[in-house]
Amino acid sequence: MTPITPPLPLDVLELFPDLAGHAATATRLHPRPGAPTIADSSIGGPLLWPADEPWPVCEDGGHHYVFQLSTPAAVHRSRAIIAGASGELNDLTGQDLGHLIEQPISLVPVAQLYRRDIPDYTGPGDTDLLQVLWCPLDHPEEGYNPRPRVYWRRTADITSPLSTAPEPLVVRDDYLPAPCVVHPEQVVEYPYPDLLPEDLQALVTASEEDEDDDEVIGYFEVSQAPGFKVGGHANWSLTDPAPMDCAECGTPMTLLFTAASSERNGRECVWAPSEDTPFTPTGITIGRGYSLYVFRCPASFGHPTATAMQ
Ligand SMILES: [Zn+2]
Ligand SMILES: [Zn+2]
Repeated sequence: MTPITPPLPLDVLELFPDLAGHAATATRLHPRPGAPTIADSSIGGPLLWPADEPWPVCEDGGHHYVFQLSTPAAVHRSRAIIAGASGELNDLTGQDLGHLIEQPISLVPVAQLYRRDIPDYTGPGDTDLLQVLWCPLDHPEEGYNPRPRVYWRRTADITSPLSTAPEPLVVRDDYLPAPCVVHPEQVVEYPYPDLLPEDLQALVTASEEDEDDDEVIGYFEVSQAPGFKVGGHANWSLTDPAPMDCAECGTPMTLLFTAASSERNGRECVWAPSEDTPFTPTGITIGRGYSLYVFRCPASFGHPTATAMQ
């Protein structure tokens, strides 16, 4: 069954009409385990990659933080066993894989998103494919997170696709996405309260404080969708908003893509398509169950992206 966001229990626009100018659309991806091909939009699936273009690697070597190292084969095997396949669950974390971080680390596919599938696709000119890869190890200067790299392509330019992508010798198991098909769905989101104009922020925050009962659904619960998505707004509930300004030109950046630890905001998530919506269909965990937000510069797609973990 196609996952679809249920009607939300609170219409914030009715409650706060001044929010009208602050709505933004996002495309929820609703990843679910599957067998996507290079012709499909996917999370953790194979990429349509030009055979004559070198596969990107990370050469941070000893600057990586060594934590929960595994091999791609071991991660695939343990996930298959957890999913019900027979076999021994061999814990490889006891093996010394640490020296492997000195080698160039092949990046792993995180997302491949065709413009035709993604209502909130943004990219340069006539590009029609967004690809997000990352180095599947911890980078201290990225807040101990994987480091993403973003590509925009014209599929018409790719006449000879790569047949098999190289795999990294070593990964952190939390950062190797399981292949998932996606079910894109456009939704409406509103900014994290601290990013609203002061008067609106005061209204929204006051309404939250009126509610003593934790069970009551408020602005926080319905303003940003959880899970993997394109566009929309970041949920800054971990640290409160940090300025995300382009390193090249200083322009405030906009949210491009979200890689999430969970497709739900807790068990009672109002955004969950159904009761059995999985928490982590992709196998990704960012920090202690947070999201990794990838921002882009609205002034130029050529300027570097930046990330925030929340
Ligand atoms: Zn790296
Ligand atoms: Zn810029």
